Amino acid sequence: MTDTASVAEAIRAAAGRLAATSETARLDAELLMAHALGTERSAMLLRAMRDPAPQGFEALVERRAAHEPVAHILGHQEFFGRSFKVTPGTLIPRGDSEVLVEAALERKRDAARVLDLGTGTGALLLSVLAETQARGVGTDSSPAALAVAHDNADLLGVEDRARFHLLDWTRDGWADDLGQFDLVLCNPPYVEEEAVLDPDVRAHEPHGALFAGPEGLDDYRIILPQLRSLMSERAVAILEIGHEQSPAVSEIARGEGFAVELRHDLAGRPRALILT
Ligand code: GLN
Repeated sequence: MTDTASVAEAIRAAAGRLAATSETARLDAELLMAHALGTERSAMLLRAMRDPAPQGFEALVERRAAHEPVAHILGHQEFFGRSFKVTPGTLIPRGDSEVLVEAALERKRDAARVLDLGTGTGALLLSVLAETQARGVGTDSSPAALAVAHDNADLLGVEDRARFHLLDWTRDGWADDLGQFDLVLCNPPYVEEEAVLDPDVRAHEPHGALFAGPEGLDDYRIILPQLRSLMSERAVAILEIGHEQSPAVSEIARGEGFAVELRHDLAGRPRALILT
C-alpha cells in the first residue's frame, strides 16, 4: 500500500493481509480504520472512503496480524448494544454471553438484587442494571478486572447501583458475607487446560478467566455447592457453560438440588443453564 491509498483501498489491502489471522478480516480492517480515523465504523462507511488513509492505520493492522484481538487494539467491545471498556486484564465479552442477559431479562426482569460472580468487564451485570432498576454486586479475583468494571459502570451511568468486591472463590467461606440475590449470573472459567485455543485468545486473554482444570469443570464444582446460599427464595441463577459441558454441569447442578433448563447461543449450541 502506498501513502496515497484511500481509506477504501487501505481497508481492502488490510483485509487481504489479515485473512490468514482472522475469520472476520474485512470487519477487523474496517474497525481498525475507524479507530485510526477517530470515528465510528458506520460514519466512516458513509463518508470517509475516498479520503486518504490516515497515518497509523498500518501499525494497527500489523498488531492485528500478530494476533492481538481487535477489542484490545480499540480498547472497547460492543456487548448487548453497549460499548464496554476492555483491557488485557479482562476477558473480552463474547456475543455468545448475550444469551445470559436475554434469559435474565426474560426470567427475572423484576430482580431487585443481582450478583455477577467473576464479573470481568462487568458486561453481564451492567447490561442487566442498564436495562432494569436493579442494584447489583460484581465480584472478581482480579483487581485489574474490577477497575475496568468500575469504569464501565461509570460509562453506562449505573455506578450508583453497582458495587464491586474482590473475591477469590477458591478460598473457604468465600460465599459467606455476600448476602442473597434474586438473580445470580456467572460466566466462570470453563476451558479445559489442554484445549487448543485460537492464538488470539491464548496469547492475549487472562488465563485465570479461561482455564478450569483438566475438564474445565473445576469452578462449577466450587460455585454450585454454594449457590443456593446466595439465592433469595424465588431467585434464578444463570450460568454460562462450554457448548459440550451441559451434561456434566447439569449433573453437578441437579446433585445440588437445582432444576435445570438449557439455553442455546446463536449458533444453536448449549450455552447457558438456568437454575431454580
Ligand atoms: N467462551 C470463551 C472461549 O471460548 C471461554 C469463556 C470462559 O471460559 N468463561 O474462549
